[in-house]
Amino acid sequence: MILEFTEEQQMLKQTVRKFLEKEIKPYAEEYTDLLIPKELAHELIKKLLPFGYVAGSFPEDMGGMNLDTISQGILYEELFRVFPGLGGIVFITQETALTLYQDGNKEQIQRFIPKLLSGDYIGCVAVTEPDVGSNPSEVKTRAILEAGTYRMNGQKIWISNGSISDLAIVLARTEKEAGKKSVSRLIVERSFSPYSTKDIKKLGLNSWPTSELFLDDISVPQENLLGELGEGLKSTLQLFERARCFVALYSTGISQASMDATIQYVKEREQWGKPIGQHQLIQDKLAEMLTELDAARLLAYRGLYLIGKGVRCDTQTSMAKYYATEAGVKITSHAIQIHGGYGLSKEFPLERYFRDARMLTIPDGTSEIQKLIIARNAIGMPAFR
Ligand SMILES: Cc1cc2nc3c(=O)[nH]c(=O)nc-3n(C[C@H](O)[C@H](O)[C@H](O)COP(=O)(O)OP(=O)(O)OC[C@H]3O[C@@H](n4cnc5c(N)ncnc54)[C@H](O)[C@@H]3O)c2cc1C
Repeated sequence: MILEFTEEQQMLKQTVRKFLEKEIKPYAEEYTDLLIPKELAHELIKKLLPFGYVAGSFPEDMGGMNLDTISQGILYEELFRVFPGLGGIVFITQETALTLYQDGNKEQIQRFIPKLLSGDYIGCVAVTEPDVGSNPSEVKTRAILEAGTYRMNGQKIWISNGSISDLAIVLARTEKEAGKKSVSRLIVERSFSPYSTKDIKKLGLNSWPTSELFLDDISVPQENLLGELGEGLKSTLQLFERARCFVALYSTGISQASMDATIQYVKEREQWGKPIGQHQLIQDKLAEMLTELDAARLLAYRGLYLIGKGVRCDTQTSMAKYYATEAGVKITSHAIQIHGGYGLSKEFPLERYFRDARMLTIPDGTSEIQKLIIARNAIGMPAFR
């Protein structure tokens, strides 16, 4: 078992960190708690493309770099550390493209993927609805086939990238009767099948839009059915397996940023005549934070390693997502405590790290759902179906 990055991976980490600090951090500072405008999102995605963001994991004939899953993880962890809001936009666009690549037919791959890989299109994946969260098999959005066109009606909520998206992969009921096999995915290209959106005001990650999508009697061509009819639920759950490792690294990146700030602060801030880092109870917190962070990171990269090997690893990816996102809340909260009053001030980034980290125990399966997957797989007895 190899538990360290290769030389190339270490080099990638250093190079991309240097670039992000210089070129991307100024935008992160400007758009703290401010939505990134769509035009700027496209511009920044294009700046990131040469490092392997969005397209890097694709084969060379698609314009990619055949990047291994660990290197992809490094890219995103670094971006989440510097500008988590932008990281979310880029990551979801990549996941949209990968979903299309995995399940799309030749024509769909040729039509849609180049636009996503070039940064001309921003993607989103729309599963959650106002009344349907942890159990996507219950989606109510309907897409009924009439003379070669799906008529889609419904509402989605909490959709990352929603308002700035050009293309959505929408989970909808394609049969009149309910049941797991009645759910399919459709590629909804906004210019052809316009949907409207409204952004949700939320606790953290405020530069990244999370939106409601209104699918009011829109027409979607039959050829935009993604994958097999009635197989939408299974494929969506498979997508979560990979995404969960990246959400774990999302939390790790934010935690690392708060750790970096804290390590600097404990050396500079003095109380009782010495740096606060020399007080034993501060060292106790630091040790706890550092250990949690390391454990979270190791679980996330183990998940990515297994994904790269192509083996089933839903237990490991659920462990990574659950552990890393809960750890992120603890680490960023301790970071505030160590900063004292300044930790709560908007003049410092600590309160934002905490708000951002707090967002991540919910998406891609809540902590409770991850625990149910881990335990179900261990004992073979599901607590939910
Ligand atoms: C930042 C962010 C980004 C998101 N991005 C997207 C996106 O791009 N696309 C998308 O489709 N969705 C997205 N979501 C939505 C997200 O996937 C849902 O919020 C999540 O699945 C939970 O659904 P819910 O909020 O409706 O909660 P509910 O399912 O209503 O759950 C409420 C509570 O009940 C618990 N619970 C539910 N079922 C069980 C059970 N069986 N046993 C024990 N406890 C249970 C949950 O853990 C939770 O604590 C995003 C959410 C956030 C916060």
